[in-house]
Amino acid sequence: MTEPLLIRPDDARYWGLISGSNTRWVGSPDYIRLVWSTEQVVAALQQAVDDDLRVVVRSGGHCDEDFTANGKVRAVIDVSGMDTVHYDSVMGAFAVAPGATLGRVYSTLYKGWGVTLPGGTCPTVGAGGHVAGGGYGALSRLHGLIVDHLYAVEVVVVDADGRARAVVATREPDDPHRDLWWAHTGAGGGNFGIVTRYWFRSPEAVGDDPARLLPTPPAELIVSDISWSWDELDEAGFTRLVTNFGEWHERHAGPDADHLSLYSQLKIQHRSAGSFRMSTQIDAAEPDAEHTLDAFLAAVGAGTGATYTVNDRSRVPWFYAVREWFGFVEAAVARWKVKSAYMRRALPAPQLDALYRQLTREDYPHPYAMVALVSYGGRINAVATDATAAAQRDSILKLMYVTLWTDPAEDERHDRWIRECFDAVYATTGGVPVPGEATDGCFINYADADLADPAHNSSGIPWHRLYFKDNYPALQAAKAKWDPREVFSHNLSIRPA
Ligand SMILES: Cc1cc2nc3c(=O)[nH]c(=O)nc-3n(C[C@H](O)[C@H](O)[C@H](O)COP(=O)(O)OP(=O)(O)OC[C@H]3O[C@@H](n4cnc5c(N)ncnc54)[C@H](O)[C@@H]3O)c2cc1C
Repeated sequence: MTEPLLIRPDDARYWGLISGSNTRWVGSPDYIRLVWSTEQVVAALQQAVDDDLRVVVRSGGHCDEDFTANGKVRAVIDVSGMDTVHYDSVMGAFAVAPGATLGRVYSTLYKGWGVTLPGGTCPTVGAGGHVAGGGYGALSRLHGLIVDHLYAVEVVVVDADGRARAVVATREPDDPHRDLWWAHTGAGGGNFGIVTRYWFRSPEAVGDDPARLLPTPPAELIVSDISWSWDELDEAGFTRLVTNFGEWHERHAGPDADHLSLYSQLKIQHRSAGSFRMSTQIDAAEPDAEHTLDAFLAAVGAGTGATYTVNDRSRVPWFYAVREWFGFVEAAVARWKVKSAYMRRALPAPQLDALYRQLTREDYPHPYAMVALVSYGGRINAVATDATAAAQRDSILKLMYVTLWTDPAEDERHDRWIRECFDAVYATTGGVPVPGEATDGCFINYADADLADPAHNSSGIPWHRLYFKDNYPALQAAKAKWDPREVFSHNLSIRPA
């Protein structure tokens, strides 16, 4: 077994390990400890607790906020080297270590057994944070969230007496630790302890043939990438287009709706980009797949007065599409800020009106500012709201607001735009998408610390209700039980009951 490594500031590697992907967050810990096994995590966590150091864990490093890289953090436990994916015949489930990237997870499951998990689209995201946050992706309309297939979790927790130990918790109804499993189905990372292993097996799976325990991905996809020129869209055309996209999803939202394999991202970049794209995929084996895709494209474009340009239309192996992820926009991605919203129906008129104004602002001509509308619903909506910590189970779309840049001197300018944009779109509900008729709160994997700041959330609805709705009290109880000393905390961490 590889020995743990202790990296301090006098080690050149320190400077490469004090931030994650979002380089606007840079920590100044006393050390980073690289570990390769559960035993090493127990020892590393014990040391940090004994030394009374604020400790965090990092897996894939894709956190949007500063949770693992801020001035208060004194010790970082980096589990990115724990990245194995294998079939565990004792558990009867696939074991995924937290440092495994989604690309590695998909590749190993596909090559070994022809199965997959309905997780995120970015292959460099780490399982560690992604799964705990209730990750979703291109197969989620067909197969639900990644946590809907989570069978068990191994977590290194710290007891009330300060002792670190590993606990395995499963979804079995008679498991006395079931609450710890449940707490890892959508509360977000950095809350209860350090996950050292996830195990996956679909709830409806029977038998012990690994090739039948998780979803089978499509063999081939038909993929489409089209773009609209802003020059061809006036406000009425824009409004029609976004409404059409929402209404198609309203018609195809339920667990038994048609065309659950159709997944689309409408990525509306700021007008200064000149155009914006919509990327769509559908299972090529779906009856009439070509026609369904054409009908979808026609439905979204209907009545807009604009014609779209076809950038790509091809039939590709699913495994090709899952590997070759081109990102949301073609930009250098060094610094960013995100926000999110769940939609229960197509965007209401006041939200559309504000969105149009914000994306066409002349005082912020930034091509890499974007609001993406992403397909949701389907089998995600087959699961009860309290069955997992991921509470939003009747939405049709997920919205991601994002702005990307590289120059640190521009942080304030970009933060200002995204805040003003969000504030304007949700002006009638205190500047946030409160659970209600049209919206249903926010997604913890797109972490946004502004929600906990009254300057940016005047709704009277606390941040935890936006993320977890009625599941928050049970998460608080799990926090009190499993992290009684609040060893793990960040701006959006669960507070004990
Ligand atoms: C480019 C990009 C694309 C994305 N695409 C998607 C997508 O398609 N779908 C989706 O659902 N999300 C997506 N996300 C969001 C992503 O799922 C979250 O940011 C996730 O938390 C990242 O996990 P990580 O391990 O890579 O990050 P990290 O920065 O390592 O961790 C994130 C948080 O989880 C905690 N954590 C990490 N490891 C552990 C562990 N082992 N045990 C306990 N807590 C842990 C950290 O302390 C931190 O609080 C995307 C993010 C980016 C940047």
